[in-house]
Amino acid sequence: MDINATKKLNNGVEIPYLGLGTLHSKDNEETVNAVRWAIEAGYRHIDTAGAYGNEKSVGQGIHQSGIDRKKIFLTTKLRTEDMLPGQQIKGFENSLKLLQMDYVDLYLIHWPIAGKTLAAWKDLEEIYRSGRARAIGVCNFAEHHFIELFRDAKVKPAINQIELHPHLSLQPLVKYCEKQGIAVEAWSPLGGLEGKGGKSLDDPALKKIAEKHGRSMAQVILRWDLQRGIITIPKSTHQARIRENANLYDFELSTAEMKTIDDLDKDPRCFGRDLNSIGF
Ligand code: NDP
Repeated sequence: MDINATKKLNNGVEIPYLGLGTLHSKDNEETVNAVRWAIEAGYRHIDTAGAYGNEKSVGQGIHQSGIDRKKIFLTTKLRTEDMLPGQQIKGFENSLKLLQMDYVDLYLIHWPIAGKTLAAWKDLEEIYRSGRARAIGVCNFAEHHFIELFRDAKVKPAINQIELHPHLSLQPLVKYCEKQGIAVEAWSPLGGLEGKGGKSLDDPALKKIAEKHGRSMAQVILRWDLQRGIITIPKSTHQARIRENANLYDFELSTAEMKTIDDLDKDPRCFGRDLNSIGF
């Protein structure tokens, strides 16, 4: 496996396992540079969202990098404010305009909202059929959301993007998605914002594994994702960290080390939400 490794989604589209996250990256040079540095470092997958307010800068970073657009896998997401009849397609078109793109590779429902999720999915299906999103999927879906969605969906979601890190490994949900042919993508893979996250980066067991391999704790966590077949999108706006987070392909965690990390699950909830309690 190397930085070019991809996972085949259930519609045949290939997504690179490693991507750059951009939550809290500002809509200015900070994000333009982060995206350019990531592409220079070999990333071919960038994750943004209408809600992050930085799509313009993400698009600029991709365009300024000079890379062929077709070589980049670009994800954006439907804002929850746009989950209204008549507004969903407009929200998507606004994202395309800000990104200065005529298509995205993946378009996601950002959060399920009770009473609104199915109508939003129908519009995502229309966007998919129009060819303006090569794949469509969801974020923050628990099993019960999928069961509801499958009653009426014509297109199966390709991805479930969920909070996943060593302190929150949601193993039953991951297994369920895998069984359904829905790829799992980890948000907040490092535990999120320093001080607010699951503090995975402070864990002594991870520190020990990192020291043994002469790697950072972030690299150990990201390697754990890759070895489990999880797509992962660490965010950084620092060039050294962007490079560090991509330097994952010349070491391997043993089965015992993988198990040690699996067993760190504590369920702290970065956003303080239990997905099961969110209605469809
Ligand atoms: P991450 O787990 O990626 O952690 C980001 C934090 O870790 C930042 O503070 C960053 O700081 C720091 N960091 C990055 N690399 C390192 C490193 N090597 N060593 C130490 N610290 C490091 O959290 P995010 O919440 O950003 O999640 C990743 C991405 O997932 C988001 O950016 C977004 O694209 C997506 N997401 C999706 C959600 C959804 O609902 N679908 C919800 C939340 C996130 P710095 O930038 O200063 O380097």
